[in-house]
Amino acid sequence: MSSAYSGKVVLITGAAAGIGKATAEAFAVQGARMVLADIDAANGEAVAANIRANDGDAVFYPCNVVDAAQVKALTAMIDREYGRLDCAFNNAGVEFEQDKLADADETVFDRIMDVNVKGVWQCMRFEIPLMLKNGGGAIVNTGSIAALGAAPKMSAYAASKHAVLGLTRSAAVEYARKGIRINAVCPAVIDTDMFRRAVEIEPRKAESAARLHPVGRVGRAEEVAAAVLYLCSESAGFTTGIALPVDGGSTCI
Ligand code: NAD
Repeated sequence: MSSAYSGKVVLITGAAAGIGKATAEAFAVQGARMVLADIDAANGEAVAANIRANDGDAVFYPCNVVDAAQVKALTAMIDREYGRLDCAFNNAGVEFEQDKLADADETVFDRIMDVNVKGVWQCMRFEIPLMLKNGGGAIVNTGSIAALGAAPKMSAYAASKHAVLGLTRSAAVEYARKGIRINAVCPAVIDTDMFRRAVEIEPRKAESAARLHPVGRVGRAEEVAAAVLYLCSESAGFTTGIALPVDGGSTCI
């Protein structure tokens, strides 16, 4: 297999499902050497095995992105086994609360902040030194349209995704001259397990979510994957620090 990402070493967190899984499969088809990380070992191993069964190159490594020791061990393994890291997609995240701010639970707030914000920070601080060893790389963090404006009944989630953009933009400027580009993708509603869990709790969400997007439907994980591959590619060589909506037009209105 030889194409755009031939031989590139790519790390994806939250790769056992949804957007992370679709992105792992898209990179693998382009020849990348995939390192998949997730807390869900059973599904993570299955995604990696499926890529290998389709002549791709993938390993799974269990990792909780909140835990410094686990992220350090993951990047140390990449350094030892591959000697480089070309691209990283920091995508692991947990869903929003279902309550207005004053009704929300502190443990839920802490969990959202831990995974969505600290997890991205934790990954970037171990990925960047590894990328610097080989003259640079590309990082994409998963934001959300909830990073770009108000998100009623999901204020903690919205705050966590706004924070992801703060990390993305600041690090992008810090490392721009060192050859590392750092961007974010901001999906609207995407049909993944996360969305299906929200619909289970509130079935009306299925229809209202489709209406939210001018294109009249929710998005597909593969459509986010395509944006991530673009942001990591040489075609995006002059693009850093951006928050790219993948949103069916929803942030236009
Ligand atoms: P998903 O629940 O289908 O998949 C998320 C994956 O992250 C799971 O495999 C889960 O095990 C993993 N994960 C959770 N906590 C982790 C941790 N601490 N360490 C390592 N892995 C962990 O969700 P998805 O819809 O694919 O979401 C992926 C990302 O996209 C998240 O950051 C989410 O906030 C964001 N997002 C999703 C939507 C949507 O509508 N689905 C919209 C905007 C943004």
